[in-house]
Amino acid sequence: MKIGFIGLGNMGGPMAANLAAAGHDVTGFDMADVSIEGVSNAATVEEAANGANVVITMLPNGAIMHAVADQILPVMQAGAALVDSSTSDVDNTRAVAEIAEKAGIHFLDAPVSGGVGGASGGTLTFMVGGTQEGFDKVAPLFDVMGQKAVLCGEAGAGQSAKVCNNMILAGTMIVTCEAFALADKLGLDRQKMFDVVSTSSGQSWSMNTYCPAPGVGPKSPADNDYTPGFAAELMLKDLRLSQQAAETADADTPVGKLATALYEQFVEQEDGEGKDFSAMLPRFEKRSRG
Ligand code: NAD
Repeated sequence: MKIGFIGLGNMGGPMAANLAAAGHDVTGFDMADVSIEGVSNAATVEEAANGANVVITMLPNGAIMHAVADQILPVMQAGAALVDSSTSDVDNTRAVAEIAEKAGIHFLDAPVSGGVGGASGGTLTFMVGGTQEGFDKVAPLFDVMGQKAVLCGEAGAGQSAKVCNNMILAGTMIVTCEAFALADKLGLDRQKMFDVVSTSSGQSWSMNTYCPAPGVGPKSPADNDYTPGFAAELMLKDLRLSQQAAETADADTPVGKLATALYEQFVEQEDGEGKDFSAMLPRFEKRSRG
């Protein structure tokens, strides 16, 4: 397929490289001067989109995605697909879906889980909103970039799944970190705590796969001085999206609200910016109850 790829950062770069390695004709565009193996560089965003069967965006947020979509939809051909894999807000997503539909272009919101490792290994999970027809058209590309793609519902459903997933992730990470800090103060060995919890009812992805305690469990950012991984400020971004969605939908999310406040404090008032989101553990270690 002829693919336009817009946003060749930490995630988009390796995703575009995987598509090119699988034999697709990929033209990329990024505001920054980047070069990705196998991907031709376009001089403008419109040039990357022009004549493409599928255009994929992997941008910082929904507002930027909306601005880019406004530029490229007029040059895309009817029947082509625009796939936004950024983590974007539901409102911008639905607005772009509406404009695309009027132009006869399939729009899919297809945010991902799996991080930079999943992007380079081609093992991402795609949570997709849009039509079955659009999904079927893009499915072969999801197969190259990921291990699983779930059509969750209409436009916006992918982003809805993403904010719910990451709200759960933030909650389990915070409580896992505070439990390790409590265990320390109770004199409980961290390895023993892992051995018990990872096979008991307190288990979660945060404990079992991405353990925030260095030297315990599988290799994770904690073993690399909390270099991201998944940066605390990106988690804060996703939590804010969850609260924005909860506000629009009038849903009561007290734990999500508290998690948002904690990551906000960590990133904006403490030393969390630039650290992995699991660095909540050293944060709790330093604190006491009062
Ligand atoms: P990134 O900052 O590394 O990449 C974003 C890229 O977009 C940058 O290279 C930037 O130059 C480019 N860009 C910005 N504005 C542009 C424009 N107008 N036109 C063209 N290019 C533009 O970020 P990332 O880590 O690759 O994340 C991308 C998206 O994926 C975000 O929405 C993020 O929330 C989401 N995400 C990230 C992770 C992760 O672990 N990094 C995991 C899941 C989802």
